Amino acid sequence: MNHFTRKNIRPSTPARGSNLDRRQIKKKESTLDPRLFVKKAQPSGQDGFRTEKTFTALGLSPKLLQNILAKGYETLTTIQEQSIEPLLQGRDIMAISKTGSGKTAAFLIPIIEHALKDSRNYTALVVTPTRELALQIEEEFKSLAIGMSLYSATFIGGTNINSDNQKLGRKLQVIVGTPGRLLDLSDRGVLDLRKVNTLVLDEFDRMLDMGFILDVSKLVTRIGKRDQTLLFSATMEPGQKKLIDGLLANPVEVKVSNGASTNENIEQQTIRVPEGHDKFDVLADLFANPELEKVILFTETKRLADRLAKKLIQSGIQAGQIHGDKSQNFRNRMIDEFKSGDIRVLVATDVAARGIDVADVSHVINYQLPMTMDAYIHRIGRTGRAGKVGHAITFVN
Ligand code: ADP
Ligand code: MG
Repeated sequence: MNHFTRKNIRPSTPARGSNLDRRQIKKKESTLDPRLFVKKAQPSGQDGFRTEKTFTALGLSPKLLQNILAKGYETLTTIQEQSIEPLLQGRDIMAISKTGSGKTAAFLIPIIEHALKDSRNYTALVVTPTRELALQIEEEFKSLAIGMSLYSATFIGGTNINSDNQKLGRKLQVIVGTPGRLLDLSDRGVLDLRKVNTLVLDEFDRMLDMGFILDVSKLVTRIGKRDQTLLFSATMEPGQKKLIDGLLANPVEVKVSNGASTNENIEQQTIRVPEGHDKFDVLADLFANPELEKVILFTETKRLADRLAKKLIQSGIQAGQIHGDKSQNFRNRMIDEFKSGDIRVLVATDVAARGIDVADVSHVINYQLPMTMDAYIHRIGRTGRAGKVGHAITFVN
C-alpha cells in the first residue's frame, strides 16, 4: 500500500563517507507528515520473503549450490527469483526490492557463477555508499564462495592504503569498495578499472545522487566497456532516469516493490513528545521494556549520537555509537559489539541507514524525524529483515 506521495519527499541530501551528515547539522526541520510513520505490520504481504523456487532448481555449479544451502538458504526470495536468471544470461539490470529481501545474494550468486567460468579474466566491482556495507558484502561473497579459489578484497576509506596495494598483488574476482578509495587506487595506477567486467552499484539511488555522482561517473568512465551493469536498491528517484539509461544497455527492470514503500513486516508507530518535554526521559523509559532487545537509534547529527550514547550508558543501558567522525576501527568494533549483543543500543547517523544487515534487530528508533522518506525507509529497514517481524518507533512533537 502506498500511503504517501512522492510530493512529501525532499531531494536527498548529499552524503559522502565521513561527511555524511554535514548538511544536517544546520538544524533543518523535517517536513514529513508524522502520520506516515504509523503502520501495522502485515507479515504475509504478497511480496513476501520466500518463493516456491529452490536453489537446487537453478542449475548452479555444485560447489556454489552447496555453499548456498550451507548458509541455510533453501528457496529464493522474490527478487532473487526474478533477477538471478537474467543475470546468469548476462543481462543488465535495474532491480528494486524492499529492505531485507535478499538483494545481495541476488547479485553475488550470478557473479560467482560467471567468475567460476573464467576466473582468470573475470572481475566484478561492487560499489557502495558506506564502508560497513562494503565489508558486509565482501563477507557474504566469502561465505558463498568458500572453497572455489575465487578472491576478493574491500577498498574503503579510513584504512591504510598501503595494505590495499598488497591485496591488489593477486588476481581478484570480486572487488568491493567505496568510490573515494577506489578512485584513489586508480589514480595511483594500482587498480586497473578497465579490467572490470561487471559493475554493481548497490543502493544505486544513493550512488547516483549529488553526494556521489561525480565520483561514480569517474569510475564508470575509467571502467569503460563492460559486460554487465547491475543496479540494486529498495528506493528510487524518478529524476535519475536519464543517468540510469546512460549506464544500462538493454536492461531487465525488476520491480518487486514500487521503490517508495516500507517493508510490510515492520510495525510502525510514533511517540509524541511535546516541545519542552524531556525526550531523553521518554527514551530511557522505553528501555524498561525488555522487548527492545537490539535497537538502532537514529539521530540527525553526529554530536547528538555521541551525547545520547553517553547518556544511555549513564542510565545503565549498554550503548555505542557509529558515525562519520569515528575511526574505522572504532566503527568496526561498534558493529561487532552490536552484532554479538555486547551493546543493546547502537546510536547511529544515516551512515548506518543503508544496507546494514544485523540479524534480529528488534527495534529501530528515530529520535528525530528523518529528513526524507527514503531515509526513513532505509533506516527502519534495519529491522524486519529476511521475512521477520520488526518494530519502528519515531519520535514526533
Ligand atoms: P537487502 O540487500 O535486500 O536489504 P540482504 O541481501 O542484506 O537484503 O539480505 C537480508 C537477509 O536475508 C540476510 O541476512 C541474508 O543472509 C538473508 N537471505 C538472503 N537470501 C536468502 C534466502 N534465499 N533464504 C534465506 N535467507 C536469505
Ligand atoms: Mg542490500
